[in-house]
Amino acid sequence: MEILKTIISTLSFLQKAKAAHKSVGFVPTMGALHQGHLALVKRAKSENDIVIVSIFVNPIQFNNKEDLLKYPRTLEKDAAMLVSMGCDAIFAPDEKEMYPKPDNTVYDFGQLANVMEGKFRPGHFNGVAVVVKRLFDIVQPDKAYFGEKDYQQLQIIKSLVTQKNILVTIIPCPIVRETDGLAMSSRNMQLTAEERKEAPFIYQILQQAKAKANQLSPEELKNWVLQQIASNALLTAEYFEIVDTTTLLPITFWKESVHSIGCIAVFLGKVRLIDNIGLK
Ligand code: AMP
Repeated sequence: MEILKTIISTLSFLQKAKAAHKSVGFVPTMGALHQGHLALVKRAKSENDIVIVSIFVNPIQFNNKEDLLKYPRTLEKDAAMLVSMGCDAIFAPDEKEMYPKPDNTVYDFGQLANVMEGKFRPGHFNGVAVVVKRLFDIVQPDKAYFGEKDYQQLQIIKSLVTQKNILVTIIPCPIVRETDGLAMSSRNMQLTAEERKEAPFIYQILQQAKAKANQLSPEELKNWVLQQIASNALLTAEYFEIVDTTTLLPITFWKESVHSIGCIAVFLGKVRLIDNIGLK
């Protein structure tokens, strides 16, 4: 497996693959890899000749400086995991390589970026779009793999690809969970032992919400979830929204949408976790 730190070495690696008519699968990550990331890599391996994973903690998508500083960086361990998955190359640029000068592109994602993560993390999705566009320009993958754990991000990426006419197929991949139900996340390792014990409560409530969706209106269900989270002293909900799966518009009546999803952001101490569940 190649560890590529520069754009030029990555382009030369990919040129050889493309000259040999090999299809390229791409998994963009910020590292601190876990089984959730590896599921994306596994899927990419099964659908492409070559798989490249990027590892780059993208500063411009962090709206909180402390979060950026605390974000785990474990390149050696990540590389070992990726070797064992049969990954062909890692693209791990530093900040100067990725942004030799600031990229001030402004994207317009309309409603997709007005709710939930977009509302509570101003600038976050613009930063995501800037880095993903730059990564797509470099890697030019046939297929790119994104987790449904970041459901809103997935919709933003689909919109980016449409807006910019990028020739890539976006493959959504299901959420991978710990055995106790907690959605895997690089941020989970920042939880204290006590917080980690309480964290599965988030998914338990989401599952109960799904079971209640037939009895309660979206608004009643939203309030019920927020009350449950508030009843747990260690958890503070930032939002729980019930939205249409494609427009991400919050719904008031179930019949407003064919498929709806409940998305949540919760603080455990200083660690902010997100999760979601399909409701209808
Ligand atoms: P990140 O390193 O957090 O930026 O995530 C890189 C990719 O892995 C994104 O497409 C995420 O949605 C995906 N991902 C992260 N955690 C999970 C998970 N638990 N299950 C599935 N995909 C995930």
